[in-house]
Amino acid sequence: MTAYLDNAATTKPCEEAVEACAKAMTENFGNPSSLHRMGVNAEIAVEEARKAVAAALVCQPERITFTSGATESNNTLILGAAENYGKRRKRIVISAIEHPSVEETVKYLEKQGFEAVRVKPDKTGEIDPDEFLAAVDYNTFLASCMMVNNETGAINPIKKIFSQVKKKYPECITHCDAVQGFLKMPMKTADLYADLITVSGHKVHAPKGVGAMYIAKGIRIAPHNLGGGQEKGQRSGTEAVPVISAFGAAVRAQLPTISVAYSNAEELNGRLRRKLAALDYITINSNAEEQSPYILNFSVNGIRSEIMLHYLEEREIYVSSGSACSKGAKSGVLTAMGLSDRITDTSLRVSFSRMSSCGEIERLVTALQAGYLSLAKKV
Ligand code: PMP
Repeated sequence: MTAYLDNAATTKPCEEAVEACAKAMTENFGNPSSLHRMGVNAEIAVEEARKAVAAALVCQPERITFTSGATESNNTLILGAAENYGKRRKRIVISAIEHPSVEETVKYLEKQGFEAVRVKPDKTGEIDPDEFLAAVDYNTFLASCMMVNNETGAINPIKKIFSQVKKKYPECITHCDAVQGFLKMPMKTADLYADLITVSGHKVHAPKGVGAMYIAKGIRIAPHNLGGGQEKGQRSGTEAVPVISAFGAAVRAQLPTISVAYSNAEELNGRLRRKLAALDYITINSNAEEQSPYILNFSVNGIRSEIMLHYLEEREIYVSSGSACSKGAKSGVLTAMGLSDRITDTSLRVSFSRMSSCGEIERLVTALQAGYLSLAKKV
């Protein structure tokens, strides 16, 4: 039996998503731009999905643009903001723990002459709103901070961070990569003080290759994809109706039960924490004051992450070492938290979804104990 505990990397598509995707490929396969009935039906499917994502973010559907995923959303929003708002103001403030799709885009802008400031987290992995505000100035056109860190699960106080920025610097555009918080915790766009929000489909039981971006009314983001003018010109290219429909179906299926799923994740997380705390060779790294129950990062003393990861994999237990996006590269997030090489080199990330179960935790803990006994001898 498989224990899939790498849901921050990607999730299994839910039945509703698979069904919607298949329907769009077998029956409703028209091009939404076509004027005939087949086209109109495909357009309706895309608009239904837009309504679903907008309902989850509590915003108007016209504020939502579909993309190929969060990487594209982050790239487009940051580059597009730079083009429209970065002519005179040249400073960007981000957290030092952003996903590479934000960090690398900002690095690219630095090469074009922009100045970037990276606000470090405290030792629990959280960004301090006052430190963030102190980094922003009148020359700052963009402030970007993620909602939930994908490696540690630390929840940043986005509302406080952005409301302070907006109060002092109303001209500064605020962007939140909300990928790891979307559909996991209730999210109300108006409460976040974010002009721009990024979400992804495959982290919430939709297929890979679909995401969305929220752009607040009055904010102009220069489009990245130019062409036929789809998505009101914000993102040209024939709409990916199958995966967009699937995204909408997944959101519709999960939105009513966010709180129930959150409580379940809290229970699983608590159970795993208690079991790991009893093992003296384990250090838990996810200790932020506000912590997502969906992610738990810990280190196994003396056993390198990849060694334990493959030991577990042989037993059909799937976890991650650091961030799945960095392919085993050293975790920048744990380092930014000031953790030692000893801790970062041995860190594992377990991440739950609403499909996770207690049985999976039991299997993980049993295998971790056996793995430590067998691998520690070889070190
Ligand atoms: N941001 C965060 C916080 C993520 O965790 C991820 C996925 N690892 C992304 C962005 C990129 O998402 P996508 O795979 O949809 O491009």
